[in-house]
Amino acid sequence: FKIGLGYDFHVLEEGRPLMIGGVEIPFHKGEKAHSDGDVLLHAIIDALLGASGVGGDIGELFPPSDVAWKGMPSSKLINIAWQKIKLHGWRLGNIDCVVIMEEPKLTPYRKTIIKSISNLLEADDSCVFVKFKTHEKTGDIGKGEAIASFVTALLYK
Ligand code: MG
Repeated sequence: FKIGLGYDFHVLEEGRPLMIGGVEIPFHKGEKAHSDGDVLLHAIIDALLGASGVGGDIGELFPPSDVAWKGMPSSKLINIAWQKIKLHGWRLGNIDCVVIMEEPKLTPYRKTIIKSISNLLEADDSCVFVKFKTHEKTGDIGKGEAIASFVTALLYK
C-alpha cells in the first residue's frame, strides 16, 4: 500500500471556464492556467504520482513551458498519468478530495464530479469522495480570487 498527497491552487479569472474534476461548473470565473486549469484533477494527478513513485510530479510530466500541453484538457493529462501508473502494476484503493472556493456552492455537482473522476480512473464511484469548503471570506480564496484543492490517494499492488 502507498499513500500520496496532492495540492493545487489557481487564480480565478473572469470569463474562464470553471473546471472541477473534469466537470465544467456554470460560473462567471474560472482557473487561470496554461491548461484548462482543473485544480481538482491537478491535485489528483500529483497525489497519484506521489503514491506510485513512478517518477516526477505533474510539472515534470507536463511542463508548462512545453507548448504540447497548452490548452490540453486535464482529463487527457490524468489519463496519460494513470496509464503510466497502471503500467507499474498499481491499482486504485481510493482517493479523498477537498476543494476550497468561496462561491458558487458546489455540493449540487458532487455526484457528477465523483462520476467524472471515477470514469477517468476506471474505478467504482465508492472509491472517490469529494468535499467542498469555503475560506470564511478571508484571504485570496475567501475573496473569490482563487481556488485550491487537497487530495489523498491510496494505491496498492
Ligand atoms: Mg494546476
